Amino acid sequence: MDAQALQTIVGVIDKRMTRQVKQYLDICARCAICKDACHQYVGTDDLTYLPARRAELIRQVYKKYFDSAGRLVPALYEARDPDDALLDELYTSCYACTGCRRCMYYCPFSIDTQQIVAIGKAMLIAVGRGQEMLGQLADAALFKGENVEMFRDVLVSGFKDIEAEVREITGDPEATIPVDKQGADILYVALAGAHSIRPAAVIFHEAGVDWTISLFEAANYGYFFGDPEKARLIAKRFMDEAKRLGVKEVVVPECGHAYRVAEIFYEAWAKEALPFKVSHILEVVDRLIKQGRITVEKGRIEGRVTYHDPCQIARNGGIYEQPRDVVRALTDDFVDLIPNRAEQWCCGGGGGIVAIDELRDVRLKSGSKKVEQLKASGASVLACPCENCRLQIEDLNEMHGLGLQVRQVIDLVVEAMPLPRSASAS
Ligand code: SF4
Ligand code: SF4
Repeated sequence: MDAQALQTIVGVIDKRMTRQVKQYLDICARCAICKDACHQYVGTDDLTYLPARRAELIRQVYKKYFDSAGRLVPALYEARDPDDALLDELYTSCYACTGCRRCMYYCPFSIDTQQIVAIGKAMLIAVGRGQEMLGQLADAALFKGENVEMFRDVLVSGFKDIEAEVREITGDPEATIPVDKQGADILYVALAGAHSIRPAAVIFHEAGVDWTISLFEAANYGYFFGDPEKARLIAKRFMDEAKRLGVKEVVVPECGHAYRVAEIFYEAWAKEALPFKVSHILEVVDRLIKQGRITVEKGRIEGRVTYHDPCQIARNGGIYEQPRDVVRALTDDFVDLIPNRAEQWCCGGGGGIVAIDELRDVRLKSGSKKVEQLKASGASVLACPCENCRLQIEDLNEMHGLGLQVRQVIDLVVEAMPLPRSASAS
């Protein structure tokens, strides 16, 4: 490693190492309790994926440059230069981490490995070793944010096509997907693709919600890449749109990290208090069912239904009960996965890993606990409110012949609504 790259890495540690993270590095007792909590270590038996080992790589460099004992006698204090071998391992261990924070939940000191991994990613990005695909996807989102007028006609034409389907499903020729509606109650920020828009539009229409659709997507590859400034700018696209339209609520779709970015991180990143609330779509659907604004009928969903808590919505977002209440409103044959809620196993598909080809093998192996849980549930339908989780569990479903239907929750809701074409709405 040349002197300039070394200086860059040391500069990143100096800038990003908060008192909290220093404390994490200092207090880790090397007890390895976290190994049994991490689905990746459990699924691979590979030390690279042990949570404390991921932190150890960063601790070694930190000690070499910021700890007087480590500087003087590096061998004795496990201090080390960030050589190519260290950076290669750091790349794998950081970009494989799904940020599920199950290790933190079980660590006796609540050490947040995800925060430590964020510094690892910043070190890699600073010397041009960030994950390429995630970086490209983040840049594409930023380009769209800066040139939205270039995309407007294509987007509006796509919304019109989906609107035609919504009219057919609801039997109402007046049903609309409003765009740029000033003063609407809700701005719905969907994912790319009709699957994320159509069922939400049907539900909003039937409930008589005053809503409008965002020109941007909720997915945030800047967050996965590990660049908080890019992540902020990607989310800022629809936060600015919400301010311009004067909405009361921004609603994010069935996507775990999008919820965490918008609801948990954005205000701190932007150093501002948002003038509207941020909700997950299932919080809104739960509200609409409980207010009697949409009708759902039990018996329309066949088979036993279970529910996967996406880490970023449940353990890291605090939403446990509303999605369960929604699913329970659709069926009498609901069973929880064991364990569940804050103890739920990560499926292995978070953190952007589904977009990283070279980590496919570890991703699939790391789903072993989720496969065990799904088999034990006896369910034939999985309600799963996160796109990355669904992609991962679809792969596990195929690989292990689980015979599951892996469904968006809002698709199940539409299927349970007495509509002219509800059965084919998804
Ligand atoms: S459980 Fe916590 S204290 Fe123990 S090794 Fe893991 S991170 Fe360190
Ligand atoms: S955050 Fe999740 S994937 Fe990352 S080290 Fe902890 S348990 Fe493993």
